[in-house]
Amino acid sequence: MKRDSFQKRVIPVMVPMPAERPYSYAVPDGARVEPGAILRVPLGPREVAGVAWDGDGEPVAAKKLRVISEVFDCPAVPADMRRFIDWVADYTLSPPGMVARMVLRAPGAFDPEPPTEGLRLTANRPDRMTAARERVLGCVADGQAWTRSGLAHAAGVSLSVVDGLAAQGVFEKVEIPPRPVVAAPDPDFGRAELTPDQGEAASRVREKAAAEHFSVTLIDGVTGSGKTEVYFEAVAAALDRGKQVLILLPEIALTQAFLERFHDRFGAKPAEWHSDIAPRKRERVWRQVAEGQVRVVAGARSALFLPFRELGLIVVDEEHDPAYKQEDRVFYNARDMSVVRGHLGNFPVVLASATPSLESRVNADQGRYERILLPARFADAALPELRAVDMRKAPPARGGFLSPVLIEAMAQTIERKEQALLFLNRRGYAPLTLCRVCGHRFQCPNCSSWLVEHRFRRQLVCHHCGYHEQQPEACPECGTLDHLAACGPGVERIAEEVDRHFPEARTIVLSSDLMGGVKRLRLELEAIAEGEADIVVGTQLVAKGHNFPLMTLVGVVDADLGLANGDPRAAERTFQLLSQVTGRAGRFGKKSTGLLQTYQPEHPVMQALVSGDAETFYEREIAERERAGLPPFGRLAALIVSAATRVEAESHARALRRSAPAASEIEVLGPAEAPLALVAGRHRFRLLVQGPRRADLQAYLRRLIAAAPRPRGSVRVQVDIDPQSFL
Ligand code: ADP
Ligand code: ZN
Repeated sequence: MKRDSFQKRVIPVMVPMPAERPYSYAVPDGARVEPGAILRVPLGPREVAGVAWDGDGEPVAAKKLRVISEVFDCPAVPADMRRFIDWVADYTLSPPGMVARMVLRAPGAFDPEPPTEGLRLTANRPDRMTAARERVLGCVADGQAWTRSGLAHAAGVSLSVVDGLAAQGVFEKVEIPPRPVVAAPDPDFGRAELTPDQGEAASRVREKAAAEHFSVTLIDGVTGSGKTEVYFEAVAAALDRGKQVLILLPEIALTQAFLERFHDRFGAKPAEWHSDIAPRKRERVWRQVAEGQVRVVAGARSALFLPFRELGLIVVDEEHDPAYKQEDRVFYNARDMSVVRGHLGNFPVVLASATPSLESRVNADQGRYERILLPARFADAALPELRAVDMRKAPPARGGFLSPVLIEAMAQTIERKEQALLFLNRRGYAPLTLCRVCGHRFQCPNCSSWLVEHRFRRQLVCHHCGYHEQQPEACPECGTLDHLAACGPGVERIAEEVDRHFPEARTIVLSSDLMGGVKRLRLELEAIAEGEADIVVGTQLVAKGHNFPLMTLVGVVDADLGLANGDPRAAERTFQLLSQVTGRAGRFGKKSTGLLQTYQPEHPVMQALVSGDAETFYEREIAERERAGLPPFGRLAALIVSAATRVEAESHARALRRSAPAASEIEVLGPAEAPLALVAGRHRFRLLVQGPRRADLQAYLRRLIAAAPRPRGSVRVQVDIDPQSFL
């Protein structure tokens, strides 16, 4: 840090901007600024929050040097978190400022929460007693501080009664510190009786989680085997060590049941962190995580960027879930970055899944991760018996999508007063609408995708950009009235078919675009769990984490749906999703069935599901990936070029291709027009970069991008390391 008699001390500050390096700022006279301190600094005409970085500030001409405006009264971003920001930026080829921005997402939290004013009993007594005054004094007799309104409420009196007492000097004013967002968890609160299998697994993860060093443990157990129960023991061990814990869940907004289970085990809820939390609450959680007051956070992937003061364990539940991948600004996979975070912070990481990602399986097979198996369901609950319904042999009736085999099974299920779930991963009524006279298809004006009919809302909707229009009565092309046809099914259309077959049954449709949002969804899920529905028709939302005691039949409407695209993980994904959704059945011991409607019952994914032989499937997939040099045996990165016009996008993509340095091990494929060629008005081209596992793909990409012309005009290049989506 430079300083002479005239110069101020200059330090680097990471600002939440797409900057490659921290900017230099002068420290105000007399101020102390440690690395990690959160600061307010001028940036152009604005002021932003930034983080004091490590090392020396780059020299800046005295005229241009600006002074830090404020050092917030806030815990510093810890050193391991700063290393994590650098690491993520380096790995994902993102500007570190954009990664830091993910940490600084609670601007209101940088100032301490002001204490509230409280009242506490003094030795003075009022001149005259009334029944109301008596009640107030009864409340404050314990010597605790009360807020004015809290006290009035608790005593069941009006505010004027409290004020009258205060005027007589019965209370003194005291400061009440900010209320904790959650109570402290107690590791010994409600220890479950574990089965012998679970007990053995638990003692192994407990041992790992009790250690002060990095390790990765994969809990690989069938749905309903008690993985949650087992990793709770790891959580307890970390809490015993005085550490904070982060539990990542793929669909936190819907996992009310999880929070309650946590409460049963630890006597308090974890703090929640996801996009659905109100801003003020988010700020309090952020602050209390930074201060160490919150001990356990259960959150979505962005919780990984909370400034934990003493993080000592990360659990990634459903570690295979694609929701962990962020594909926006900074492209990262929260499962992989959790392992990195554990490595940098030198603490244990636990991954859990019934259908681990191939990446994690291979890491376990090769000894990098410890794998713990839970082969059986809890309490002798049998896994559902899975059968393929060959749609060529038992086709649905004309205009329908449900095979007579499935309809019969549903009838029997309802007869037994149990529940059936029909799963179809398509929102809306129909994925495509066309005119039966001229063949016109309704397409999104901004995207290369069909508009999805939502009959309930009477709209045609684009699922990529949100564009929507009123469902017309006449074809906009040829003008013919009443000849628009819905093609293919969405959940709404399946529900309509269900109503035709079972008019008496109580049917619920569940998808993420349900009117009423998350609250409504929670209520519906509770209603299902309480047995208030006979048939549920749902998208992948229903696949995750819910326990429905009466559910004994799961019908997969289109088991082939995910297999058709060119994604190298298509088979793995389909296997995982269908295992998870059929795993909703029979979790409470009743005999249960899963029926997979398919046109290719001989496909390895269907075979694996029907036979229950996951091992053979994994072996085959792993061998296949190894042969093709695909992850985890090889490395992939995608470059996505987008622009306002197709010509600009394509020419920049070609320029990137031409700039690709020659490297014997690394291959650049493309550019090719993206399968989703137009999204939200932007034309898209893709390049795929493939190399062996040991290749330094990042260094290669940096050279490639440096050699290419700078993107101009509307052109944007996004780098996606370890891409999950190929659209
Ligand atoms: P998984 O996470 O493997 O799907 P869970 O941990 O959700 O499994 O357990 C499935 C169900 O069995 C849950 O309702 C859970 O409460 C119950 N369960 C599992 N293990 C036990 C146990 N040892 N004691 C009591 N209930 C258990
Ligand atoms: Zn669109």
